[in-house]
Amino acid sequence: MPCPPLEILFLGTGTSHGVPMIGCDCEVCRSADPRNQRTRSSILIRADDLNVLVDTAPELRLQAVRERLDRVDAVLFTHDHADHLHGIDDLRAFCQKHQMLIPLHGESRTLQTICRRWPYMFQDHEFRLRHLNVARLTTRPVEGPFRIGELDIVPVPLLHGKEPILGYRIGNFAYLTDCSEIPESSIHLLRGLDTLVIDGLRPRPHLTHFSLGQACLAVARLRPRQAFLTHLTHNVDHAAVDAALPPGVRLAYDGLRILCP
Ligand SMILES: [Zn+2]
Ligand SMILES: [Zn+2]
Ligand SMILES: [Zn+2]
Repeated sequence: MPCPPLEILFLGTGTSHGVPMIGCDCEVCRSADPRNQRTRSSILIRADDLNVLVDTAPELRLQAVRERLDRVDAVLFTHDHADHLHGIDDLRAFCQKHQMLIPLHGESRTLQTICRRWPYMFQDHEFRLRHLNVARLTTRPVEGPFRIGELDIVPVPLLHGKEPILGYRIGNFAYLTDCSEIPESSIHLLRGLDTLVIDGLRPRPHLTHFSLGQACLAVARLRPRQAFLTHLTHNVDHAAVDAALPPGVRLAYDGLRILCP
């Protein structure tokens, strides 16, 4: 089925510490450029009336208020690290407003972690039955391509250090946060992209994330029409680094919206 046009909204583009970092007075952390202020990484994918959130960053409430987001139809989880999960309780606002159950898609391990850390949000938990004021969530383990409304979603296995995690492809768009390697067996899933969003962390190499240079090499191999780097640290000054990137590659920033035809 053809993919409807997508709007991608960057809710957050920061690494796990966020930028500014607690206790740091470096130039980027003190910068007045709003593009140097990064909440933890998450995006919203909009297609027609559907709002699909990728990850629930610790600042989900702030991100949703900033962007006047009032509905989330489904969440895709990439992995279970705190910077991608710990805003999950804020989903209750959407559940209450629309009296709905929100489906969470992700690998079984990730969903198991969520159920263990936040048991009260799931079916038949005693607390949930007694309190209406909680998120109401349901789990949908990802075992291969699946569909949400009109969207065909392809999970893309990645390596985050030694840990296997998921990126996602929808139509000609792919979101690959938190990765240090794209396994050869995933390359064919990333052919013919219009827009690629990929982890670019910082200038220096890191054990579990692509550096800016490694991310640019991955982009050169996959050849999307345009690419955006995300999950950035305070070692990245937006204006200086963005100006030095190769053609077709840009830094993402909180609040950036892009269209993917
Ligand atoms: Zn992360
Ligand atoms: Zn700093
Ligand atoms: Zn991570």
